[in-house]
Amino acid sequence: MEDYIEAHKFSNNHMEQLKKDKICGCFYCLTGVKRKRNGNRNIKNMRTQTSDNVKIGNIRYFTELKGDAPISVYVVSGEKGDMLIDTGFSTTTQALVRWISEKGYNITDIFITHAHPDHDWNAARFKQLFNARIWLGKEDLSLICNFADQPQTPTHSRFVSRVKRISFWTKTPLFKSKHYVPDILIDENANEVAKQYGYDIEFVHLPGHTKGSYGILKDGVLYAGDSYAVLNGTPMEPPHAYSIEEMKDSVRKIAELSPEYLACGHGVPFLFTDHMM
Ligand SMILES: [Zn+2]
Ligand SMILES: [Zn+2]
Repeated sequence: MEDYIEAHKFSNNHMEQLKKDKICGCFYCLTGVKRKRNGNRNIKNMRTQTSDNVKIGNIRYFTELKGDAPISVYVVSGEKGDMLIDTGFSTTTQALVRWISEKGYNITDIFITHAHPDHDWNAARFKQLFNARIWLGKEDLSLICNFADQPQTPTHSRFVSRVKRISFWTKTPLFKSKHYVPDILIDENANEVAKQYGYDIEFVHLPGHTKGSYGILKDGVLYAGDSYAVLNGTPMEPPHAYSIEEMKDSVRKIAELSPEYLACGHGVPFLFTDHMM
């Protein structure tokens, strides 16, 4: 209180209120409150970690540091344009568009690692905004806007309530992505198709979390979607899967591929060689 009164030594108008309460309504307090709001906005920006703030290999990433499973989006480049890997959720839309525009990325393609709303929420909007092609695993076509099409099982008992909660919310319109039509369905020919569009990438089928979960291997980085996850900063198997058996096979496949970095759909990318089981 003493410091506060000291700060107000030039404010004589509300000295009585000041002595009683910290919020007095004087100019100092009002601008103080305003500063605080601005400050909060700054903190919010800082909650977005990108490859500009923290460099991890040469990975170009955008992570909204929110909750225990922050949503991550990536960009890889081709000869003719850039490919956005996943589109984030409603909470990331504005900051993500700003980041893409500030970086000057020319998004000609959007790869959806799997058709869950926290990955394809902005697919319809970005397809139009960037005039981009959408790539999606053929097995996830029926999953678009239809989470229940591939019911999710918790991969661990501690995730039971989480899966119940997610399964409930995804039935409501609030958590349903806007419908979109993929331009390219990823199958065994997808690497050839990617080459035609100028991308030197390798699609890796990683079923389990969903049937049509795919990753992209490029320059030693596996962009893995939700086939693996970083929860509370700890790399681990995803909390839920359509098929736990297939999910485990895919985790083994990731270990066999042994990329230098793993860039998951949640959490910031990490050096996989450090984490090798
Ligand atoms: Zn998912
Ligand atoms: Zn996800």
